[in-house]
Amino acid sequence: MNLFFVILIRPKFKGVKSIVEHEKVHTRQVLKWWILQPILYNLSKKWRLKFELEAYKVSVKHGKSVDSAAWALANAYGLDITKEEAKELLECT
Ligand SMILES: [Zn+2]
Repeated sequence: MNLFFVILIRPKFKGVKSIVEHEKVHTRQVLKWWILQPILYNLSKKWRLKFELEAYKVSVKHGKSVDSAAWALANAYGLDITKEEAKELLECT
C-alpha cells in the first residue's frame, strides 16, 4: 500500500522486489500527478487501470508472473476486466 510517499508492506512481503518496485511506481505517480493521483485512482476505473497497469508492468519486470499480475488486475481493483484482457494489456508495451 502506498500512502503518498510512505510505502507500507506486510512483513511477509518485505524485500519482495516486485512488490517494492510496484509501490515505487505509485510513489512516482503521486509525484507526477500530486493530489490528482488519488482522486483519479479512486473515482475512475479507467485511471485506476492506467495506474495499476503501469505498476504491474514493473512488477512483472521484477519477477512477478504475468499470470499472477493479470489475476490481480482482474480481481483486486474493481476494474471490470477479465484476466485474459488484463493479460493482453500487460503484454503490450
Ligand atoms: Zn498498485
